[in-house]
Amino acid sequence: MMTSQSAAGAGSDRIVGHFIGGEVITDDRRPLPVFNPATGETRCYVAMASSATVENAISSARQAFPAWRNTPPSRRARILFRYKTLLEEHADEIAALITGEHGKVLPDSMGEFLRGVEIVDYACGAPEFLKGEFSKNAGPDIDCWSEFQPLGVVAGITPFNFPAMVPMWMYPMAIACGNTFVLKPSEKDPSVPLLLARLFTEAGLPDGVFNVVNGDREAVDTLLADPRIEAISFVGSTAIAEHIYRTGTKNGKRVQALGGAKNHAVVMPDADIDHAVDALMGAAYGSCGERCMAISVAVCVGEETADAVVGKLAGSLKNLKVGAGTDAGNDMGPLVTGAHLKRVSAYVDLGVEEGAELVVDGRGLSVAGHEDGFFLGACLFDRVEPSMQICREEIFGPVLCVVRVDSLEQAMAIIDAHEYGNGACIFTRDGEAARFFTDNIRIGMVGVNVPLPVPVASHSFGGWKRSLFGDLYAYGPDSVRFYTHRKTITQRWPSDGVREGARFSFPS
Ligand code: NAD
Repeated sequence: MMTSQSAAGAGSDRIVGHFIGGEVITDDRRPLPVFNPATGETRCYVAMASSATVENAISSARQAFPAWRNTPPSRRARILFRYKTLLEEHADEIAALITGEHGKVLPDSMGEFLRGVEIVDYACGAPEFLKGEFSKNAGPDIDCWSEFQPLGVVAGITPFNFPAMVPMWMYPMAIACGNTFVLKPSEKDPSVPLLLARLFTEAGLPDGVFNVVNGDREAVDTLLADPRIEAISFVGSTAIAEHIYRTGTKNGKRVQALGGAKNHAVVMPDADIDHAVDALMGAAYGSCGERCMAISVAVCVGEETADAVVGKLAGSLKNLKVGAGTDAGNDMGPLVTGAHLKRVSAYVDLGVEEGAELVVDGRGLSVAGHEDGFFLGACLFDRVEPSMQICREEIFGPVLCVVRVDSLEQAMAIIDAHEYGNGACIFTRDGEAARFFTDNIRIGMVGVNVPLPVPVASHSFGGWKRSLFGDLYAYGPDSVRFYTHRKTITQRWPSDGVREGARFSFPS
């Protein structure tokens, strides 16, 4: 094991380690390659933490907890303010790291980073959201108040698709609330979370308050089993989310586990079709479809609507620029790994076998100068049936399915019957239809002429059905509830000499 201030090695031999107790630790057991998705080359390696390394991180967080718990929220907020400034100073570096390991185009990397910084902004309000509730004279000489106390050591486990933003959904609020944190990010793009942690220390965060361990199932199992972990926030695929929720809660932990998605956009006959098509282009193919809020099914009401949407999408896709995320002007980068490219391509093959009409086929795309990159061109299926596997399962790639229906009610029935309930939107000019849709659809985040209705930092993020296990959503006001225990204190200071004697009825 070696310790240094930065990741060990140079070039592709570099090993991304862990951040424990304010230090970068390189535990080089079973290092896994991290790819540059645009070239297919190995960029560096990431250390897979052993159980002992994870336990060290938990010990470090546990040790830091008492002092951090007792640090006034206003002092915590001051560190968060400095952190926000530092993050903004490193914005270009962070965006470049995201693009280097995830593959998304640079403006998209910057966009995800800025949405993460919004949560740091919100967390700076700790003195306000932790001030509690107070009732003077709740009874004779009795005051009653509720306060929000931190839980202790909490953990976050995050997916590859937003290596900056999703961790930032968790640790800024958890830490602002007085907890200490252990983050287990995705092994596919591990460098950004490590930099986020180092910058927090630079901003003045005491050692041990924020720790990062890189790893796989062994690290996650250790977090799930260790009784010192009070709560777990998870974001990733539904199968793993369900496993984390069931195991974590069985072990007595508070758990919120956000899972996969299949998000539908309803296009009504009265919609501004050009606006809807522009929105669908960004929402279906942005970030190569690797977003939990990506639109992957367009449900078109009426044959004319469907013909217009499919025709205009096919036309727009001819101009979609696919290439390295670092090249200015590209709209869509590669998929994250070669394995994921194979998986998404197999879904396109399956759609053809299932009988859907492949209007635009992105398979076999080669990008000049990046022949070994993990590229797949945009794919568009028409005449997809809701029963087809390509419509039921999350593909997580640049594949949009068009389903044709006769009415809004039919569109809504398809969405409601789907196992996922993360996001959905409607394109229309009809206020009544929009209101009926937002009121009745069984979905957690809903857009009206907004394709990616990702809530701003002051609202919480979460889906319904099998897109979320647990009761509280990510960030926003729900995160204060998730990362704290409510304690209610009822206090009486009887006036001198007043003695009421014993009472045997329930106090009222
Ligand atoms: P994933 O489920 O493969 O991995 C997520 C995390 O779980 C990673 O840290 C990974 O190391 C860990 N993990 C993987 N397999 C595990 C196992 N068997 N046991 C324990 N831990 C394990 O997800 P991913 O491929 O990194 O990300 C894509 C998925 O995340 C998609 O399904 C997407 O919809 C979902 N996602 C959901 C949201 C949301 O808010 N609902 C947001 C972003 C991504």
